[in-house]
Amino acid sequence: MLPEGTLQDRVAIITGGGTGLGKAMALEFSRLGARLVLASRNQDNLRRAAAEIEARGGEALVVTVDVRHPEQVDHMVQAALDRFGRIDILVNNAAGNFVCPAEELTVNGWNAVVNIVLHGTFYCTRAVARHWIRQGRGGSILNILATYAWTGGPGTVHSAAAKAGVLAMTRTLAVEWAARGIRVNAIAPGPVDGTGAAPQLWPTEEARQAVLASIPLGRMGRPEEIAHAAAYLVSDYASFITGEVLTMDGGQWLGRGVFQGARRGGKGS
Ligand code: NAP
Repeated sequence: MLPEGTLQDRVAIITGGGTGLGKAMALEFSRLGARLVLASRNQDNLRRAAAEIEARGGEALVVTVDVRHPEQVDHMVQAALDRFGRIDILVNNAAGNFVCPAEELTVNGWNAVVNIVLHGTFYCTRAVARHWIRQGRGGSILNILATYAWTGGPGTVHSAAAKAGVLAMTRTLAVEWAARGIRVNAIAPGPVDGTGAAPQLWPTEEARQAVLASIPLGRMGRPEEIAHAAAYLVSDYASFITGEVLTMDGGQWLGRGVFQGARRGGKGS
């Protein structure tokens, strides 16, 4: 665990910060001293997360935003600046997903996911980076991907295609904005329990067992494990890291194609 004070007085916007991994990151960043901007569509979730942060002595601003709309994203950035006067960190975590065979996927379904994940990430990234560039100061961006950004994701072509776009965005902007002092990194989680994705992606016990069998470490990830790594990547401890993708999947994607017998005994702690 990083020491308290690691993110002292940094201001972090986390999209989708009211639930799942976004909330776990918000709580961890707050423990480390950051002030939070929690941004998504559902005020109730955001308020509950903000109340949890405040109950622990932290500070969190709640901003309602649909990242699919650039003007709402601009408003989110302005609201953060009005309250805190600065932004240091952006975490592009908001996403939507559902399992659907590609041939049955509607245009609406495709657009909904691509607009949130790919376009929304770009709108947020552009709005925050424009502010930094105008101010002549740098910052840190963290994009939350999924390993199927490069393995492919049968059953979730919309999400896999969008995440692949965000992976390309991560690497592209890491170079394009390096001279501006802006770092851009990503985390690619595998299956994580206790999140919004869980009931969408492994809705039955049978599906859950099939997912578990595919993970060499023999268990799902925990939201706080993602949060610890996220805090490291946005902190000064990672000041020489940019354009990197940290895979956190218990070995799942590397284990594809391993003979079943070789996996036996793989149990995580
Ligand atoms: P989650 O709890 O459902 O989080 C998704 C968040 O995105 C919600 O807080 C939601 O808030 C927000 N959101 C959705 N549409 C939005 C929009 N149009 N504008 C603004 N906010 C929007 O799921 P999660 O599992 O924690 O997922 C977090 C991230 O991790 C996602 O990027 C996901 O792809 C990635 N990931 C998760 C797993 C996993 O196993 N959990 C694995 C790989 C990758 P509102 O409903 O309030 O808008």
